[in-house]
Amino acid sequence: MATETREIREQYNPANTSECIGKIELHTVEETEAKIEASGKAFGEWSRMSSVARGEILHKMADLLIEHMEPLAELASKEMGKTVPEMIGEVKRGASILRYFAQEGMRAAGEVLPSVSEEKMLFTKRVPLGVVAIITPWNFPIAIPLWKIAPALVYGNTVVWKPSIEVALTGQYIADLFLKAGLPEHVLNIVQGRGSKLGTVLIKSPIVKAISFTGSNAVGQQILNEAGPLNKKIQLELGGKNAAIILADADLELAARLTIEGAMKQTGQRCTATSRVYIEASVYDEAVEKLIKYAKQIKVGETMGPLASRQQFESVMEHIARAKAQGAKCIFGGKPVAELSHGYYVEPTLFVDVAHEMDLAREEVFGPVLAIFKVADYEEAIRLANDSEFGLSASIYTANIQKAFDFIERSEVGLVQINDETGGAEPQAPFGGMKNSSTGFREQGQAAKEFFTVLKTVTINGIRYKKS
Ligand code: NAD
Repeated sequence: MATETREIREQYNPANTSECIGKIELHTVEETEAKIEASGKAFGEWSRMSSVARGEILHKMADLLIEHMEPLAELASKEMGKTVPEMIGEVKRGASILRYFAQEGMRAAGEVLPSVSEEKMLFTKRVPLGVVAIITPWNFPIAIPLWKIAPALVYGNTVVWKPSIEVALTGQYIADLFLKAGLPEHVLNIVQGRGSKLGTVLIKSPIVKAISFTGSNAVGQQILNEAGPLNKKIQLELGGKNAAIILADADLELAARLTIEGAMKQTGQRCTATSRVYIEASVYDEAVEKLIKYAKQIKVGETMGPLASRQQFESVMEHIARAKAQGAKCIFGGKPVAELSHGYYVEPTLFVDVAHEMDLAREEVFGPVLAIFKVADYEEAIRLANDSEFGLSASIYTANIQKAFDFIERSEVGLVQINDETGGAEPQAPFGGMKNSSTGFREQGQAAKEFFTVLKTVTINGIRYKKS
C-alpha cells in the first residue's frame, strides 16, 4: 500500500501577510492513527500514576510556560495576530489554568455514602475515560487547549490533540514544553492537519472514548452527527452572539468603556465578544456618543491587532457589506485600514438602525463589529437579548439591584455579567453556554471533572469485624 507523503505548510503573519514565520509538516491519516494507538498504549501506566504526581507535571508545565512567556507570546502573536500584550495575558492565564488543575490531583476523587446495611461500605470513585480527543480553534491558541488538556491529564486520561492548523506552530511549542515538563511520551500526542481530513479519523476511532471540541457550530454539529451514534462522550463549546444591556440608571462611562472593550478586544475574535448592545431610549444618544468616544481611542495596529487570516478578513468584510446592504447604518469604521494594507486590519465598526431580523442581529461575526439597538425599557431589552439561537454570555449595566437579579434569572446564557463586559470566567469557575452555544458539559473549575472522568459506584460487603 502506498504511504501518503506529508504536506508541508507555511505559516504567514496576518499583521504582515508576506512574512513567512515558519513551516509545519502536516500529519498523514496513517500517522494520526498511529498516534491514537500510541495514546491507547500509554493510558495504562499514566492512569495508574498517582494523581498528585500527575499534578506535579502540570505545576512544572506552568513554570515552563512562564519561563517561555515572551517567545511563546511573540510566536502566537505572529501566527494569529493577537497583540503581544494580549498574548502575554493568555500565557499567564494558561499558567493559572495549569496550576488550578495541578492542585486537582490532591482533591477528592469520590465520596463515601451511607449504606442501609451495617455490613456494607458504599462509595464512589472517579476514574479516567481513556483516550480523549481534543480539537481546538485558533482564537485562544494557548488557553483553550490548556483548559482541556490540563484536566484531561490530571484525571488520568491520555490525549490526542489537534490544534487548528492556523496556530500549528504555537501548538507544537506547547506540546514540546509538556515533554520538557516531564510528561511521559505519548501521554499527549499532537496531530497537525486540517480538521476536515484528520478530524474524522479522531472522532471515529474506537480507541477514542471522548471528544472535547471548541469551534464553530457547523463543525460541532458534524461531530455530534458522526460521534453521537458511536456512544462517545462529547463536549462542544460553540459560537456566541453576546448581548449587553445598558439601562438608564447605569454608570454610562463604565458601560460604554466595557462594551467597547468587550466588542473589540482581540479584534472581536472571542466567542464571548459583545456583539449586540441594547440601550434604554432615555440615555441612548449619550451612550452612543460615549461608545464612539471609546471606539476612537483604539489604535488599530497597536492596541488592536489584525484579523487572524485572509479567510477571517474576507468573512468579516462580507458581514459588514451585508449589514449595509440590509439597511443597517454604519456610524463608525466599517472599512479595512488603508495605511495598514500589509495586514488583515479592519476598523472597529459600529452599526445602528439594525432590525432584529437582519443577519447582523443574529449571526456570529467574529470580528470587531458591534450592533447597537435602542429599546423602550428593560423588558424590551431582555426580550431581544434572549431572542438568539446562542446563549453564551450576557451583561447588564445598571444600578438597580432588583433588575440585576431579575437578569440573572431570566437571561438565557451560561455566563452572566453584572456591570462587566461579556466575557469568560476565571479557571476555578465553570465555563459554558446555553442553547446552541454548548452541549451540557461545562468546562473548567470542578465542572471539568464531570466530563473528564466517569463515576464508579463501589459496594464492599462484610466490612464488620466480629470477634470469634
Ligand atoms: P472551526 O470549527 O473551523 O475549527 C475548530 C477546530 O475544529 C479546528 O481544529 C479545526 O481543524 C477542527 N475541524 C474542522 N473541521 C473538522 C471536522 N470535520 N471534524 C473534526 N474537526 C474539525 O472553528 P475556528 O474557526 O477554529 O474557531 C472559531 C469558532 O470557534 C467561532 O465560531 C467561535 O465562536 C468558536 N469558539 C467558541 C468558544 C467557546 O468556548 N464557546 C471559544 C472559542 C471559539
